[in-house]
Amino acid sequence: MKTSEIRSRYLDFFAKFDHTVVPSASLLYNDPTLLFVNAGMVPFKPYFLGDEPSPYKRAVSVQKCVRTLDIDEVGKTTRHGTFFQMLGNFSFGDYFKEGAINYAFDLVTGAESAGGWGFDADRVWVTALHGDNETIDLWQQAGIPRERIQERGLKDNYWHMGIPGPGGPCSEIYIDRGPEFGADGGPEADEDRFLEIWNLVFQSEELSAVRAKDDFDVLRPLPAKNIDTGSGLERVALLKQGVANMYEIDEIRPVIDKASELSGRRYGADPADDIRFRVVADHVRSGLMLMTDGVSPGNEARGYVLRRLLRRVIRAMRLLGVQDPVLGELLPVSRDLMRVSYPDIDQAWERVSQSAQAEEETFRRTLASGTVMFDTAVTEAKAARSTALPGAKAFQLHDTFGFPIDLTMEMASEAGLSVDRAKFDSLMKEQKDRARADAKAKKGGLSSHEAYRELREAGETPFLGYTDLGVTTRIRG
Ligand code: ATP
Ligand code: MG
Ligand code: MG
Ligand code: MG
Repeated sequence: MKTSEIRSRYLDFFAKFDHTVVPSASLLYNDPTLLFVNAGMVPFKPYFLGDEPSPYKRAVSVQKCVRTLDIDEVGKTTRHGTFFQMLGNFSFGDYFKEGAINYAFDLVTGAESAGGWGFDADRVWVTALHGDNETIDLWQQAGIPRERIQERGLKDNYWHMGIPGPGGPCSEIYIDRGPEFGADGGPEADEDRFLEIWNLVFQSEELSAVRAKDDFDVLRPLPAKNIDTGSGLERVALLKQGVANMYEIDEIRPVIDKASELSGRRYGADPADDIRFRVVADHVRSGLMLMTDGVSPGNEARGYVLRRLLRRVIRAMRLLGVQDPVLGELLPVSRDLMRVSYPDIDQAWERVSQSAQAEEETFRRTLASGTVMFDTAVTEAKAARSTALPGAKAFQLHDTFGFPIDLTMEMASEAGLSVDRAKFDSLMKEQKDRARADAKAKKGGLSSHEAYRELREAGETPFLGYTDLGVTTRIRG
């Protein structure tokens, strides 16, 4: 079953039950608490909170999502993309737990010939918040035996955005991929064998403070009891297509094949290379979707995320042995796969390809000038039997060659070294203080040289933005 068909089956199923089909919002949807949309519910938040009346009682969408929080998982787990599409059905004060559970069960286990996804009911496992007997009863009535319903704590089965806002208990649906994928014992025991495909959130409370996943204050019950669900399209696709991981589904795999063709290396021949192939395929697609929605590579928060994704593609391809420019080869492959669902890619294409090309040229110059110094620093550190690259070297790479610290850290880690980050940070701070003091002394403002320095330092704020990003995108962890 093609990814596009899984998506249309989802939309058709819920449209049949009177859900209004709502198009995906832009990844840059205007929610000041988020850098990117990271769940299907984001555009509906005001309706849950009662800030705005919802124009419909029921809605269904396929929402583009970016979760930078998952970047380090990409290519290593079978199931985390930086970009993915979240299928979601929503009820605004209309049906609640019973409706959500029955709809989900019917779609997941419904026969393919009748428009369902056709999963074997014996392979379905579900979770409920500890003590949520109503949910447990409803799943049993739907046909899931008690031994395949697991109760978990707030950490796993209470959903909130990681910030004040809507929240509620949730119930997740998992598919057992079989004993060859890991240990028995349900999702509680092994989330690789038991693949989470769908989260049903019972949006019923407003939180006034959130300190951790399982530590928050409830302000009030929401004006209505709502349903917010999210199912990962790529995860359903990987199961329906019988491939090993989400990067091998029909919408992504051809990018791996292109990378393999460019590098002359075979996907599946070497585990370290395979991770690189998957990172390339994932990031090319995220980059394409972000640029289509209007992001340009840069040093501010959103632009910096994009820059980092594109640069990781270029570096992964270098590690696969490709020195020539790659984005102009890889992006069109992803474009041809994604344009079917997102025709606006074609309108944006001219701008997207130019922007990517310019970024690749800039980065190639950066690498060309800094790599010799980086390699020398690594050789010296190793000769001195050190496990860390000195902070002063990282600073020099940043100051003279424009290597962002995360680039230095990634390259060092590939060479088996860490970076003396504390020293680097203190040198950065010294430099900043010096520039400030100079500026004050002159009163007349910054010299152009100093102004340039300040600008470059401003370029480092996104690095902080990164950790912030981790917090703001910490949704449904
Ligand atoms: P996981 O535990 O696997 O990280 P999650 O619990 O963080 O997933 P939710 O926040 O519940 O995920 O999101 C709803 C659904 O979206 C998940 O059930 C999953 O199918 C899908 N999903 C979440 N994160 C990703 C991702 N990084 N890539 C692809 N699909 C995802
Ligand atoms: Mg979940
Ligand atoms: Mg989960
Ligand atoms: Mg997660």
